[in-house]
Amino acid sequence: MITVKTVQKSEMIDITDRVAEKVREAGMRAGLVMLFVPHTTAGITINEGADPHVASDILEALEKMVPQDAAYRHGEGNSPAHVKSSLLGASAMIGISQGKLALGTWQSVFLCEFDGPRTRTVLLHLLPSEE
Ligand code: ZN
Repeated sequence: MITVKTVQKSEMIDITDRVAEKVREAGMRAGLVMLFVPHTTAGITINEGADPHVASDILEALEKMVPQDAAYRHGEGNSPAHVKSSLLGASAMIGISQGKLALGTWQSVFLCEFDGPRTRTVLLHLLPSEE
C-alpha cells in the first residue's frame, strides 16, 4: 500500500518511483502490478511525467468537461470529483519485466486527486509470472 497526502483540491501526483520501489521490495522479476485506488473522488492514470504541463493540461481539460457549477443532485457538493474519478478510473495495470515497471519512456503513474486535500491510499496487487 502506498499512502499519499494531497495538498490541493485537484492535483496529479507522480507515484511511479514509489510503485517501482514496492515492486523491488517484493523481489518480483516478472508479472503484473495492479494498482487500485479505493476512493470515489480520486483516480489513477498513466501519462507523461517529464513535462509537468501535461498533468496541468489534463486537470484543466477535466475542469472544462466537468464544470463545478452544473445542476448536480448529489448533496455533498463534490459531484464533479465523482465524475472525474469515473472518467479516469480506479485502477491501472502495469507489466513488470526484469524487475522493472514496463512503462514507455515518457510514461509515469499518477494518483489523481479531485476532492482534496485528503490522505489517499493506492493498493498494489502483485501477480507474478514466469520471466
Ligand atoms: Zn460525494
